[in-house]
Amino acid sequence: MDKLSNNINSKEIFDFCEGYKDFISQNKTERECVISIREMAKKEGYQDLKEIIKSGSMLKAGDKIYATNLDKCIFLFKIGNRPISDGMRILGAHIDSPRLDLKPNPLYEESASKIALLDTHYYGGIKHYQWTALPLAIHGIVCKKDGSTIHLNIGEKEQDPVFCITDLLPHLDRNRSKAAEDKIVGENLNVIIGGIPADSKNDEYDAKILHLLKDYSIKKSSLVKENILNILKDYNIDPEDFISAEIEIVPAGRARDMGLDRSFVLGYGQDDRICAYTSLKAIFDAKTDDYTIAGMFVDKEEVGSQGASGMQSLFFEDMIAEIAALIGETSPLALRRALRNSYMLSSDVTAGFDPNYAAAFDVNNDAYLGRGISFNKYTGSRGKSGANDASPEYIAKLRDLLDKEGIKYQLTEMGKIDQGGGGTIAYITANYGMNVIDCGCPLLNMHAPWEISSKADIYEAYKCYKAFLTLKSE
Ligand code: MN
Ligand code: MN
Repeated sequence: MDKLSNNINSKEIFDFCEGYKDFISQNKTERECVISIREMAKKEGYQDLKEIIKSGSMLKAGDKIYATNLDKCIFLFKIGNRPISDGMRILGAHIDSPRLDLKPNPLYEESASKIALLDTHYYGGIKHYQWTALPLAIHGIVCKKDGSTIHLNIGEKEQDPVFCITDLLPHLDRNRSKAAEDKIVGENLNVIIGGIPADSKNDEYDAKILHLLKDYSIKKSSLVKENILNILKDYNIDPEDFISAEIEIVPAGRARDMGLDRSFVLGYGQDDRICAYTSLKAIFDAKTDDYTIAGMFVDKEEVGSQGASGMQSLFFEDMIAEIAALIGETSPLALRRALRNSYMLSSDVTAGFDPNYAAAFDVNNDAYLGRGISFNKYTGSRGKSGANDASPEYIAKLRDLLDKEGIKYQLTEMGKIDQGGGGTIAYITANYGMNVIDCGCPLLNMHAPWEISSKADIYEAYKCYKAFLTLKSE
């Protein structure tokens, strides 16, 4: 029997997952993740690398530091007793998730319906139709010219309004044989934001509704849009402020237990906050002072890891250079050796075998929910194109460690050959010559507004990451 449920302390697992559900419910954007991770790290005694550099003090074994880039990615480091040129133990997860971003000029009023909408541009690989007909929330920031920032979070509290993208009723959708994905395209993903016109004479709510009913053929246009702009003024947002904003439309509501036996978590953004949270907890709880530990929580993975806050940025390398200098390893070679001699788990989710779509999977080589953490030697598509291909020597070392620690794991692929594919950040850090392998929880509904994970796998991921941080080189 492969299932974990026979030999687990389920209370420990379930308790751990309560913290996880809180984390993914409260942190639905990369910025929200960075703020939370930074606060959690500070409580664990982590200090800002920027402040240390400014103060002119040095670092020593046991010191814990964090470095933030553009408030959208954050790295944690715990200095080990060994020289950093011996390499690090690195856990890397991404904290961006598929969603709908607002366009720079998002607000408009449709003339026939007099409904105000927000125009979006989707981020990451989504099936467009999945984002219709469900409650949505608005998260993000608006940057004002005076340097101030407004944080938005509307739709999560019980009393908050929510938002929605429409889908056509089945009665008028005769052509349903056409794939859903063809009918709802990116440009259709417009979020309804309001339906009451502004009335300069009367501000009372009921009067506005009467005004709407009475004057539906009203001459003056865009009164509904005008009313929304008036409401936005209460948030100190002017219409032109949208051009310096990052506003994300995400599914509204908390992550929840799923199944009568509560074996699963249903929640938004589990790719890849499931690995971010378990990595973070592992870093906090790991009892090792041997090698330097690094935690990477990066942005932009869902769109190719480009940009200053993505894994392709030189920011990580720069931070290692800063740390090497602060511990007195000032030779440029120390940095190269630190990177080359490192071992890393690219902590990212993989596709779980879906009983409803069995034909897309290889029963012998795909990941199953509830059977522990999943390792992908390679990802990619069309003949492993774009894959980091982890070395079998490294995998053997990991097998030895995980078997000794009694951690359940599976070696998997992602679906049948040429069915599709995907990438992670593994190939980027592999460029340094370090050993890296993809390793994370299998999900169902990956990239859908509500993704499914197994609680047993979440806890096994945490245990695996914690054990990995103690990995020896020889
Ligand atoms: Mn991912
Ligand atoms: Mn993804």
